[in-house]
Amino acid sequence: MQQPTWRQIREARRGTALATCAVLALTVTTSASTGRLMEESPQAAGPVSLARATTLSPCMITGTMGVQMSEGVPTSAGYSRSTGTVKALNLMVDFSDAPGEGSALDRLAEFFPQTSDWFRTSSYGRLDYRPESPVPDWLRMPKSFKEYGIERGAPFDPGYRELVTDIVAEADPDVDFREYDLVNILITPNAGPSALDTVLSVTFAGNTEAPVADGVPVSNASFVYSRQDDGSGSYGETGYRVLPHENGHVFGLPDLYTQDGGGAVGHWDIMSEDWGANNDLLAWHKWKLGWIGDDQISCASNSGTTEHTLSPLPENGGTKLAFVPLSSTKGYALEVRTRGGNDEAICKPGVLVYRVDAEVDTGRGPITVSDSTKDSGGCTRRPNVHAELSDATYEPGQTFTDKKSGVRLTVSDIDTEGRYRVHVTRP
Ligand SMILES: [Zn+2]
Repeated sequence: MQQPTWRQIREARRGTALATCAVLALTVTTSASTGRLMEESPQAAGPVSLARATTLSPCMITGTMGVQMSEGVPTSAGYSRSTGTVKALNLMVDFSDAPGEGSALDRLAEFFPQTSDWFRTSSYGRLDYRPESPVPDWLRMPKSFKEYGIERGAPFDPGYRELVTDIVAEADPDVDFREYDLVNILITPNAGPSALDTVLSVTFAGNTEAPVADGVPVSNASFVYSRQDDGSGSYGETGYRVLPHENGHVFGLPDLYTQDGGGAVGHWDIMSEDWGANNDLLAWHKWKLGWIGDDQISCASNSGTTEHTLSPLPENGGTKLAFVPLSSTKGYALEVRTRGGNDEAICKPGVLVYRVDAEVDTGRGPITVSDSTKDSGGCTRRPNVHAELSDATYEPGQTFTDKKSGVRLTVSDIDTEGRYRVHVTRP
């Protein structure tokens, strides 16, 4: 199957209760770039080391060719690295038909320092995200915004290629692009529609066909438009969250919301909902990113009953994820979610159970959370938090059963240190 060599992630209007996006164009037209075979195969060196203990290998599920962005472990090559010091180039861009209002550094301040803090907290300090802005003023593009023809779902060619080429030309005297791991293009908020109507924000990840600057392609770039301001008064605290979401793509993470909105994963991952109250990433994503080590994964591949002790996700250290592989491409994940760290909206602490399928593409539901209390209506009414799944967690005494495979997951108890003991039974 032909795939472009890069991944374009177009955003739906995510997470708000006001409207859902009718069009979610996730299929990349191969004519938009030179179609070349892209294998999402595990031989590529991702952020997670390949030197794996054999006990973990059954849990390292992988997708097949033809999946743009896969939940497979390890993450395939071409994305920005997600551990250590990562330098982000921020460029603030405006147009003759949308001149920047206020200073460019004010636009930057809508995203920092919160974005760097978010990454430090979520990664337990393993990602040192360094934002830089060597051009402190608006970069005026030579064409009007309208002339670039950018609208929701616009492919890289021709509009984005022209825009990136122009940005590089304008910034080049002040910027050495070789110094940066990723690029954030912060567009003046008055260009294009309100995010309440249409989210234009987009990331082109692993795009080796991108224009070259200082000898390197601008291959991992996030574009942020408008303001994700729902009018609830929380923009100052929550408006930055589109950027960690977009940068999640730059690090290789797929979208977890679908055409139907956030009903697959709810507010349990910023790749599902990035409006409203702060949230974290699933432990599965943290493993993909290298923020949780192999020694923090408990792989439940043996038949019979096994016990796994999981420490809450916000705490540094301890076993964070138990994974029950069903095949080489899918399985069930278990993790403990409590309020803390980046998770501020959790109203029912407990064990989150979700299915991961590395063969399901970005935006099509690669992860599905199992709701322990179906049709309950949830335990929160916070704006932009998917209510129904907010109480999805399992508490001591509760069991999840997958009838098809016969896998049974039981939350046994909580020990004195707040760790949850779970028992996995597989035929
Ligand atoms: Zn996205």
